Amino acid sequence: SVWQQKWVVGNWKMNGRTESNRALLGDIAALPAAERVCIGIAPPLPYLAQARAATAQAGNRIHLAAQEVSRFADNGAYTGEVSAHMLADAGADLVLVGHSERSLYFAETHAERRQKLENVLAAGLQPLLCVGETLAQREAGQEQNTVAAQLDVLANLNSRHIAVAYEPVWAIGTGKVATTAQIAQMHEFIYRHILSLCGSDVNIRILYGGSVNEQNAADIFSVAHVDGALVGGASLKGGSFAAIIRAA
Ligand code: PEP
Repeated sequence: SVWQQKWVVGNWKMNGRTESNRALLGDIAALPAAERVCIGIAPPLPYLAQARAATAQAGNRIHLAAQEVSRFADNGAYTGEVSAHMLADAGADLVLVGHSERSLYFAETHAERRQKLENVLAAGLQPLLCVGETLAQREAGQEQNTVAAQLDVLANLNSRHIAVAYEPVWAIGTGKVATTAQIAQMHEFIYRHILSLCGSDVNIRILYGGSVNEQNAADIFSVAHVDGALVGGASLKGGSFAAIIRAA
């Protein structure tokens, strides 16, 4: 089951074009089957169908993720929005919720994240909730309180499968990776907080994200309660993404 595997999910963010995607998707589709690893990619929505077609030969080994989802209903007068049911229809099975860039640029609230989580589950998809503190919050000693408050949107959620990515905001796209000690401490905290919110009979995956690359991946994967990685920049290079998967 994927709940025993290490997840390596590539978040392409707002990058890619049909032509350049072709080579990257070719590399990803050619990755050797690894029993211990669950591979996911989150291309921009216009390329979801391209990604699905290009990875079809690899069967269901490559999971498709969406970077964002509407908080509104399945259909309706919500110009510009894409619903969870549409993402399912387009072949996604994983959906990022709460990425820090969504709060930074779109002022996403806890209540909106909760609504998105519910929509994703209602469409039969797995949400991947992103949490993480800013540098100012860490320097003020508020990193655990901040992350706990972000995790609280999981309380009483109708799911026994909880996937979270811990992404310290100061480590995203900065080349500043958290130390293994910082990662160990926060992942342990997140694990315990999820158990206290959701009960002990849940399947849990906690991914680390923030400047993961082929050099630091093995060290990060060796940390207790690190069940995978959410990879931004390094997921845009087939060779780097493959090396991170090998390290998992
Ligand atoms: C991310 O934004 O999910 C991320 C981890 O980015 P990067 O790997 O580029 O730091």
